[in-house]
Amino acid sequence: MLTIIFGRFFCGWICPATFLYELNTNLGAWLHKIGLPIGRQHFDRRIKYLVLIIGLVLSAFTGSILVAAIYPPAIIGREIYYAVALSGFGVGAVFFILTLFFDLLVARRGFCRYLCPGGALYSLLGRYRLLRIKREVKQCNDCIKCNAICEFELDPMRDGFGQECNNCTACIAICPTDALTFNLNYKDLPYQGPGHLGHTYREHLHEIIRQGKPSDAA
Ligand code: SF4
Ligand code: SF4
Repeated sequence: MLTIIFGRFFCGWICPATFLYELNTNLGAWLHKIGLPIGRQHFDRRIKYLVLIIGLVLSAFTGSILVAAIYPPAIIGREIYYAVALSGFGVGAVFFILTLFFDLLVARRGFCRYLCPGGALYSLLGRYRLLRIKREVKQCNDCIKCNAICEFELDPMRDGFGQECNNCTACIAICPTDALTFNLNYKDLPYQGPGHLGHTYREHLHEIIRQGKPSDAA
């Protein structure tokens, strides 16, 4: 129910795997800085919905919660239990480490974006969330910092948040002109055009003024 109001907030604020995935992203940025290759592949985001459907169908047929086998927060919970109670780790630990390598070497935050069944469910439930981020076009300078920081590779600079946005506020925090704010609405605004403090918009205005001069003279 909270996801219906706040969107995919669990992924941004509560999931214990997010903490490790974000550290992994930082490691990737550091490796990139020293010249090592990191993965920046793009896939179809709808793959995770297929994973969710297959997981639910298999769970229904087997009577066992199979999706939990590949759901990172469930894996972390189980592995902590194994470590404390049984002094060991299960196969989930190996799977989770593989997801870290996948994010590092194939696609940035790739597991959450393309494969996580929980992320798929939250994205669907959060499609019409009431709390969402809005860009104030008059304050935006098109610096693209918001897009660069977004681990889900969304497009805040062009008003593109969509159902994948987890309201993590990283884009709000980095925006130098406070152009991003929370807003109550059940859908994103359509693209509002370039930010009014940016070059593109200023050039556009100059062009209108230039074109307007002959008619003014006439
Ligand atoms: S658009 Fe902003 S709030 Fe949404 S996931 Fe990206 S950085 Fe986080
Ligand atoms: S919303 Fe903020 S961070 Fe994003 S392009 Fe505009 S000024 Fe830059």
